[in-house]
Amino acid sequence: MLEKKTFENGTKVFLSPDEMPTEWYNILPDLPRPLDPPINPQTKEPIGPSDLEPIFPKSLIQQEVSDQRWIKIPEEVLDVYKLWRPTPLYRARRLEKALDTPAKIYYKWEGVSPPGSHKPNTAVAQAYYNMVDGTERLTTETGAGQWGSALSFGCSLFDMECTVYMVKISYQQKPYRRLLMQTWGAEVIPSPSDRTQAGKKILEEDPESPGSLGIAISEAVEDAATHDNVHYSLGSVLNHVMLHQTVIGLEAKKQLEAVGEYPDVVVGCVGGGSNFAGLAYPFVYDKLKGKSDVRIVAAEPTACPTLSKGIYAYDFGDTVGLTPLLKMYTLGHDFVPAPIHAGGLRYHGDAPTLCLLYDEGVIEAKAVPQNPTFEAGVMFARNEGFVPAPETNHAIRVVIDEALRCKETGEKKVILFNNSGHGHFDLAAYEAYFAKKLEDYEYPEEKIKQSLEKISQLQP
Ligand SMILES: *Cc1c(COP(=O)(O)O)cnc(C)c1O
Repeated sequence: MLEKKTFENGTKVFLSPDEMPTEWYNILPDLPRPLDPPINPQTKEPIGPSDLEPIFPKSLIQQEVSDQRWIKIPEEVLDVYKLWRPTPLYRARRLEKALDTPAKIYYKWEGVSPPGSHKPNTAVAQAYYNMVDGTERLTTETGAGQWGSALSFGCSLFDMECTVYMVKISYQQKPYRRLLMQTWGAEVIPSPSDRTQAGKKILEEDPESPGSLGIAISEAVEDAATHDNVHYSLGSVLNHVMLHQTVIGLEAKKQLEAVGEYPDVVVGCVGGGSNFAGLAYPFVYDKLKGKSDVRIVAAEPTACPTLSKGIYAYDFGDTVGLTPLLKMYTLGHDFVPAPIHAGGLRYHGDAPTLCLLYDEGVIEAKAVPQNPTFEAGVMFARNEGFVPAPETNHAIRVVIDEALRCKETGEKKVILFNNSGHGHFDLAAYEAYFAKKLEDYEYPEEKIKQSLEKISQLQP
């Protein structure tokens, strides 16, 4: 019998299975002020939990508004988590050496899940609660295919059908993620499609539309709302998604503790905010309670700088305007970001909890252009081995810049970041980078301004 519960070998720290968190951390009761409620776009009145019942099961709606700090992870979900959790915490010693920095760099490696990212942490939980609720089919949208593959995987484990509306341009350009979804049994439909009124409307205006995440959300929501026993599932943004992802940060905290460390800086890339929140919220808790002054930095693309350049206002979650209005930092629901390869970061809004924390100054944001993120990702791969997803490269860029600053100042900061997924299905993006074909899209000021002008009439 081994006594020790946490193991480390100088390169990585891993928890024993019985140290895996058994509860998720819900940040809602600890926020510095209450969240502004979602509102109905027609009446401008707050929507009640029951208004969400056409698209979500009751159990998830309860979690969405729960004031319980700790929420028990069902045994069935823990059982699936055991396929890849606890995930290892790595010390990036070779990267530190290459940078010649006194900083210590740690990262949580979420690429070990079957779909290769953090996303199944919530996909499995959402599929489970829907199964219990009697849902026969789940619908969702996907851009590059990370979320679609995570939900397809989750549904396959709980014998549920899954329909994925995949942004058309990605459907055509990324056959491997589509095939992964189909292997797990999902039906994958290129969006915009003629399956929904929302899709038809877009196709009438532009038959050649390459699609967007916002359009695909509209289609998936409509499909769920107009069919019995069909629910919709979202891979980011909502409170219950942030909740499920906190297993990442809860594990990381224990792992760092085991080697006598606490982070000075926590970094994650932000699309809708789920992998970032998942790692950061357990540390945000310490900060809100005055127990630490850790810096928490959200990395986003200059092509879609939601926190850095957006406004804090009510906006739709989708493009067409079917969802409730959420108070968040937004670039405008009809803003179409430049086609950067980090498809998961091309979203006009961010999670309401994260936006509130940004507004309160609890977290910071840093926008980075595309080529420097690939430069960082390649440097990471050449020193640490793992090839990160283009989304993750944004976090790595910010981490490397921080480590280089430490080199100048001599500070021995402890930097922790979320390595949210692998880039094995994104190698064409690396190819374009090596061929110097990637553009550094700057903040498209005029386009964002146009999209933001339309938002004032949505405000209550
Ligand atoms: C989807 C995705 C992201 C962005 O989504 P968040 O909800 O902001 O985490 C980041 N990294 C990877 C690998 C992803 O698949």
